[in-house]
Amino acid sequence: MNIKKAAGKETITIAGAGPVGALLAVVLGRYGYDVNLFESRPDSRLHSIYQGKSINIALSDRGWLALESVGISDKIKSNAIAMKKRVIHALDGSLTEQAYGKEGQAIWSVSRSGVNEALLTLAEAEPTVNTYFEQRLSVVNFDNACATFTHDKNHHEVLADYLFGADGAYSKVRRLAQETPRFSYSQSYMPQCYIELNIPANDDKTGDERFKMEKEALHIWPRKDFMLIALPNPDGTFTCTLFLNFESANNNDVSFTSLITKAEVTEFFHENFPDAMHLLENPIDEFMQKSANPLFLVNIDPWVINNKVALIGDAAHAMVPFYGQGMNCGFEDCRELGQLVEQYQGNWTAIFPAYQKARKKNADAITELAKRNFIEMSELSGDPSFLLQKKIEAKFHDLYPKLWTPLYSMVTFSPYLSYADALSIGDQQKKVMQTLMVDLMQMPDIEHCWQDDFVYKKMHTLVMASPLAEANKVTK
Ligand SMILES: Cc1cc2nc3c(=O)[nH]c(=O)nc-3n(C[C@H](O)[C@H](O)[C@H](O)COP(=O)(O)OP(=O)(O)OC[C@H]3O[C@@H](n4cnc5c(N)ncnc54)[C@H](O)[C@@H]3O)c2cc1C
Repeated sequence: MNIKKAAGKETITIAGAGPVGALLAVVLGRYGYDVNLFESRPDSRLHSIYQGKSINIALSDRGWLALESVGISDKIKSNAIAMKKRVIHALDGSLTEQAYGKEGQAIWSVSRSGVNEALLTLAEAEPTVNTYFEQRLSVVNFDNACATFTHDKNHHEVLADYLFGADGAYSKVRRLAQETPRFSYSQSYMPQCYIELNIPANDDKTGDERFKMEKEALHIWPRKDFMLIALPNPDGTFTCTLFLNFESANNNDVSFTSLITKAEVTEFFHENFPDAMHLLENPIDEFMQKSANPLFLVNIDPWVINNKVALIGDAAHAMVPFYGQGMNCGFEDCRELGQLVEQYQGNWTAIFPAYQKARKKNADAITELAKRNFIEMSELSGDPSFLLQKKIEAKFHDLYPKLWTPLYSMVTFSPYLSYADALSIGDQQKKVMQTLMVDLMQMPDIEHCWQDDFVYKKMHTLVMASPLAEANKVTK
């Protein structure tokens, strides 16, 4: 790290010690800043705050790159499970597999609390970082970055040069920022809500036999308007998430509000997830007891107020979870902010505007992609023409790797390509595929001849006639 300015003289408050706040504390601490990291909840390393539930999420290359930059990726990977493919569970119980990327590429199931705790411990190892738990931010002065934190009924004021709100999707810093001049804010709820369910391990088995389903996969039961997914945990269990509309659009649609009696819920599960019924632990009771969690996305502008207070992670860009990128994007925020601290030698009047310029367009892009991906996961991943399209794309990518990288791979496995570029290239690719598939789907035997040369010659011609050829600087 090359930073000429004696940055250690400046003090930074971070509100929220979730995964993003904790990583940010590591990054800023390593640049020599005095960092005070405040968290409203008790320290989960000392108190049981998760009620024994293991919530896992998918970490992919953008997240790994950020973790690698602070030297903690190997430690986290030692407790992670590579998910190399999607396994699609059809209604009749048949299974279809789709590799996520090429040989050796995977998304990884990690424990959200495990990652958070490892980052907190890493932050505390920095001599200039201090952590404080059970301290809830309640007031921010946006002119001078002073904040008030509350524990029980005691309030204390914390002075700092700068403040970051890393306090998550329900950010208090963001809510207070709405009272500052010219602050734009929007929040949209998705029709879907979610509950978490569990598939226990085979307790009588050891090793991989503890897993009741294929271990190295993300399992999906796509049912068009709703879906169930399952991610593996190292202890042999799977954490499942049921995404279902909160309310019914029509009388016949199922939703959290339409399924009221135990008989209705039982029928819903048996009809839609028959092969999962002997795997899930009390899904019907769980459904009846749990409240549906809302899904929403947030868009704000600016991310930085008075070059004193900034938002980061979910506080700046809460998105829906359908691309598995929320935390990855928050980690990328931290990594890129670190690069800007270095580039501008600790000059925050340059760093803050550059941070907003670099990150907002990318967060907007992944928020949009995540919203669209519900359709891909819940509907299209069970559709034969969609599956065929994916196979054609993968083969074209093998033939012309510089000309075509599938959108999923650009988002997930190309950490140096911005989300904004992935979105715009993906939109061009979509046009090419639509034209190609209209022609191909008219061929009765396309299921059998999709690997034939003529398919790829046709696709190549379409690509070369599109802006993709220019974007990829292809010469032949
Ligand atoms: C169902 C679901 C599945 C998901 N799956 C994935 C996935 O597969 N991959 C992925 O990358 N992302 C996924 N995400 C998103 C991911 O969980 C978030 O993007 C990530 O947790 C954001 O981290 P954060 O630190 O910004 O916010 P948070 O994790 O919300 O942390 C914010 C912290 O701030 C604290 N806090 C709140 N208010 C205050 C206050 N006033 N004062 C002090 N502290 C405060 C909170 O207690 C919390 O610890 C998923 C999200 C959901 C809901």
